[in-house]
Amino acid sequence: MLYPEEFDVIVVGGGHAGTEAALASARMGAKTLLLSHNIETLGQMSCNPSIGGIGKGHLVKEVDALGGAMAIATDESGIQFRILNSSKGPAVRATRAQADRVLYKAAIRRRLENQPNLSLFQQAVDDLMVEGDRVVGAVTQVGIAFRARTVVLTAGTFLDGRIHVGLDNYQAGRAGDPPAISLSARLKELKLPQGRLKTGTPPRLDGRTIDFSKCTEQPGDGMPGGTTTALPVFSFMGRIDMHPRQMPCWVTHTNERTHEIIRSGFDRSPMFTGKIDGVGPRYCPSVEDKINRFADKESHQIFLEPEGLTTNEYYPNGISTSLPFDVQYKLVRSMVGLENAHILRPGYAIEYDYFDPRALKSSFETRAIQGLFFAGQINGTTGYEEAAAQGLFAGINAALQCRGEESWMPRRDQAYLGVLVDDLITKGVTEPYRMFTSRAEFRLQLREDNADMRLTEAGRKLGLVGDAQWDAFSRKRDAVSRETERLKSIWVNPRNLPAAESERVLGKAIEHEYNLADLLRRPDVSYRSLMSLDGGKYAGEGVTLDPTEIEQIEIAAKYSGYIDRQHDEVQRAAHFENLKMPADFDYSLVTALSFEARQILAKHRPETLGLASRISGITPAAISLLMIHLRKGG
Ligand code: FAD
Repeated sequence: MLYPEEFDVIVVGGGHAGTEAALASARMGAKTLLLSHNIETLGQMSCNPSIGGIGKGHLVKEVDALGGAMAIATDESGIQFRILNSSKGPAVRATRAQADRVLYKAAIRRRLENQPNLSLFQQAVDDLMVEGDRVVGAVTQVGIAFRARTVVLTAGTFLDGRIHVGLDNYQAGRAGDPPAISLSARLKELKLPQGRLKTGTPPRLDGRTIDFSKCTEQPGDGMPGGTTTALPVFSFMGRIDMHPRQMPCWVTHTNERTHEIIRSGFDRSPMFTGKIDGVGPRYCPSVEDKINRFADKESHQIFLEPEGLTTNEYYPNGISTSLPFDVQYKLVRSMVGLENAHILRPGYAIEYDYFDPRALKSSFETRAIQGLFFAGQINGTTGYEEAAAQGLFAGINAALQCRGEESWMPRRDQAYLGVLVDDLITKGVTEPYRMFTSRAEFRLQLREDNADMRLTEAGRKLGLVGDAQWDAFSRKRDAVSRETERLKSIWVNPRNLPAAESERVLGKAIEHEYNLADLLRRPDVSYRSLMSLDGGKYAGEGVTLDPTEIEQIEIAAKYSGYIDRQHDEVQRAAHFENLKMPADFDYSLVTALSFEARQILAKHRPETLGLASRISGITPAAISLLMIHLRKGG
């Protein structure tokens, strides 16, 4: 049956990529349909119920700055929050939250169900409708054909998914969910370049059978015994009173006996016996991989993370495994506190199809099929946050295409989202890609705290940011800018400043006149202490700033030297970064380029010289030659 209504954007898959994609395109006014296997699993966390962390938290804040759902849904469902690296520089500070997985799904579903321009439909998609080289819709399992101008595919780990536990394996999208077999076959028929990757998850434990008295408690921030007394929020629109009750995590360790048990299962491990071909995430290895690779390490820390407020289920972070169940049973019970632990769900590994992201344009539209966009795990990434950021991005560009407008992509110096997209389309992946702060060369300016300052204006222009968020952002931006200017304009004269006051606030007497912005650059001077200087003489009348505004003013002052230097680097690269490469550019004419460089460039067809410069095998000399050629009008 041909469904009577036609859509602008169909999103296939209701995971973290799909839900952000659908919300984004609908927010931008595109008539959107989200097609997913099961409405009950919208926003489901396939693995651990945790959002954020270093690099990942940065992406979540960016999604939030662009009006996305992940951060605010985490505020509504987070049962433990921590600021990681809180004693380090602001660039690497990151928020991580433990979510109640039921509350998280509910928070996402509520947003989807109440989003204007968005319809939901539960059904597996088995086929894509393609006319010529353009996608025109999707067909479900029972033959319902939905027509659309664009399709965003976010099928996660489901495409030809196969679960492994020991030497047993079966087809599935993840435990308890069906695989997408027909869709995988259809994509193979369309000859999009693909490969196999794998990921894994630990067995889940019944908290009633864990002896917590033998484990070390790990409270979150804002809890008694936590690192700080302040309870963090994730979203720029988040409030502490949105958080449900907070819960601690617990820590135990593997030991020599655990390692022996794990080694005894190597001959029945699908990883070591060649049953699994897909490459797994190096940075999130299975416990058998850790014991194999770091054979001399006597113990590994295992975090016991609660899965929610209304369940006894615990996620033992650090023992992801696809060893046979009898080995899982023994290895769990070999650890202190877990001697009687009951496994509720076995751990497993899953292999699935992914598509080479180098076959995508910088909008995430496939080069081969117009109107077809890919986002999330199927682009070779791992992680909810990476998926959400890509989903939002693909949703934006699908909606822009429907409007007949140019695609949007933030630069590497503007956003981790820019780094993510740029890395994927220029370098591809050799293992599941996850975000790290070290991937960003301009990380000093890509901080969690200023994600709104970097992106909310762009989000508003795109139509992603609603009035409430825009008003809050505008107030913050204006307050920060007004106060920064005021600090620059007020001068402190040593003759008018009592020496004792100078020493109390500034550490020593000042020798000449300074403005307040200069004094704030000093490492030991905080904004609040500066405002208390000389009886509060320099505090602006009627100036009341909230902690996030003060943080912006302080960071901008203290790191201004470094930030200015990074800004100069960006400016230096800007002369070629956005130089467009014509779509039909004939690389064979640039004879000064090596044969290999010409081949690589002809294959990748980078859209700008900046993108070309980051393709592996393309040297700075090749870029100079291309620039000369383009300038000559060649
Ligand atoms: P998913 O969350 O997988 O969502 C895909 C959605 O598409 C689902 O709603 C599904 O029902 C739907 N769908 C698929 N095919 C169809 C179809 N044909 N028709 C209709 N609907 C369809 N990440 C980490 O960062 N660290 C880890 O340690 C980790 N371990 C993992 C372990 C396991 C076992 C699994 C399964 C995942 C793990 N992940 C891990 C990955 C994390 O779950 C994903 O990165 C993230 O969920 C990807 O989001 P996504 O939206 O791309 O896909």
